Amino acid sequence: MAGGWAKDGAVSEQIEASISDELARMQARKTPVGESLTHCAECDEPIPEARRIAVPGVKLCVECVAERDAIRVQRGGINRRGSKDSQLK
Ligand SMILES: [Zn+2]
Repeated sequence: MAGGWAKDGAVSEQIEASISDELARMQARKTPVGESLTHCAECDEPIPEARRIAVPGVKLCVECVAERDAIRVQRGGINRRGSKDSQLK
């Protein structure tokens, strides 16, 4: 992807190509990403079916993903969910 933003058509073609490439690879390997969980692995909140469909192999609810991203950005600055053992430790 070194070409920059020159051609819109080329870019979306590239994206489509990489998606179908990825799908082909997944199907070839027959290795599932993992089962989508019905409940968040972190906080046990139910994960909406729409999210489970949209994110194959989803393990966390939106809130926990957002929190994890925030933690990643801040490099472990906050840990509001202290009740359970933190995955960072
Ligand atoms: Zn959660």
